[in-house]
Amino acid sequence: MPFHGLGDAHEASLYRSLVKNLPEYAIFRIGRSGHIESWNSGVERVLGYSEADFLGLPLEQLFTPEDRGSNMPEVEMRLALLHGKAPDTRWHLRKDGSRFFCDGVMTAIHDASGQVIGFTKVMHDVTDRKVAEQRTEELARALDLTHTIIRNVDGVITAWTQGAEFLYGWSPEEAVGRHSHELLRTEFPESLELINERLLNLGEWQGELLHKTKDGGDVSVASHWVLHKRADDGVHVIEVNNDISALKGAQRSLERANKELRSFAYEVAHDIQAPLRGITVIAELLSGTSQSSSSEERKMLLDRIVDNGVKLRSLIESLLQYATVENPADREEVFCIGDVLKDVKANLATAIASTGADVSWNDMPTVRAHRTRVLRVLQNLIGNALKYTRTSVRPVICISASKIGRQWRIDVADNGCGIPDENLKKIFAPLTRLHGGEVAGAGLGLAICKRVIESEGGRIWVDSVPGDGSIFHFTLPVTPDCAPF
Ligand code: ADP
Repeated sequence: MPFHGLGDAHEASLYRSLVKNLPEYAIFRIGRSGHIESWNSGVERVLGYSEADFLGLPLEQLFTPEDRGSNMPEVEMRLALLHGKAPDTRWHLRKDGSRFFCDGVMTAIHDASGQVIGFTKVMHDVTDRKVAEQRTEELARALDLTHTIIRNVDGVITAWTQGAEFLYGWSPEEAVGRHSHELLRTEFPESLELINERLLNLGEWQGELLHKTKDGGDVSVASHWVLHKRADDGVHVIEVNNDISALKGAQRSLERANKELRSFAYEVAHDIQAPLRGITVIAELLSGTSQSSSSEERKMLLDRIVDNGVKLRSLIESLLQYATVENPADREEVFCIGDVLKDVKANLATAIASTGADVSWNDMPTVRAHRTRVLRVLQNLIGNALKYTRTSVRPVICISASKIGRQWRIDVADNGCGIPDENLKKIFAPLTRLHGGEVAGAGLGLAICKRVIESEGGRIWVDSVPGDGSIFHFTLPVTPDCAPF
């Protein structure tokens, strides 16, 4: 291996010995022209080149295309000329094109007169270390995104992640040094003494906690505490909290829905029982009546059975309607409410004629919604206005519309019997009736309206003056394809 111009003989021999005894290091010389002039076994090990392939190779061949693009080989040599040596800590290419992370240095070589005659370069493959560093960095980054708190056993916070800041609102500067349970106003599922006892005995604890955020909100978390003994002998608690507030909220609404379902089932059973009991009692009466009883009497009893049967059928039909309000087969469409009102008027023609009612409306908007569902709402509201009238007062029903912000508000006003204040909310609950048997109904019409309107993104309510009339209001969202009146 040639070592021309390496200063005095002693230095040259030292260099030779280094080259030989450090097989983990690629050590070679580069001429002023930037071409490689020597090789050692470390070159084969680190870069994968045989001596024959390596000698004469331009140095830039070892650089990545990005570094070649930014003239790095040139820059490195210039730095070595200027300062005597240049560090080389970057990704390089092996002969097979794979990359390795290099920790190396380039040094300028001078001849006896001080002239630079070339460079030596040492390259050491530290890819494993670099990858481990990158992995640690990634893990630290990932950890920082979790809701993790590190505190000492007394509860004083020593580390507070970005995730914790996101969840609770306090920055690390505000949280570190504070007492964790005081800061978060923690509510524990059992006494803190018991929890700490378990933590010290078993090294960890898991359970659900209730925390308060900086702005006073509630956060439910599934908390996992792990005891961590540090090399410096300090004991710390790593507390990882997972936000389960949404889950808890869903659990609560499921419980509420279950409760409502139970009471609904109870009401349904009760309402079905009444006409059924009627049918059974009359049927028993009929079977007991002697042949001598008049056919008129028997006919009257049979009529009552039919009445009860009709009531039962209408209740079951309403229940079916209520259960199928959100039929997924229904498609949204753009339609004019005025056209729906024409259909409703046609459907209720008999009731309108028999009551002599006046049903009219002003300009109506075009909306995007489920047409059959909106028709059902209007038919229920107008149908009720035709039912709950005042004796000897001709029903007048007027439907109007107005745009309020991003919502259309539709008003259905009647001059009927009105509703007492205390019942204005109640009547929207399923199977709630203020009228007895004198007016037909199952008490589901308004509950259906409420479900429909809420599923369409609106709301429904009523204003009323008993003895004077009621105005039912409901809203529907204004969408870009909703034409004005
Ligand atoms: P139904 O008409 O089958 O009884 P609804 O759910 O439609 O059931 O109405 C619930 C109750 O609200 C009715 O029983 C009635 O007492 C009252 N109600 C509904 N609409 C009106 C109205 N326009 N005027 C007065 N009372 C009404």
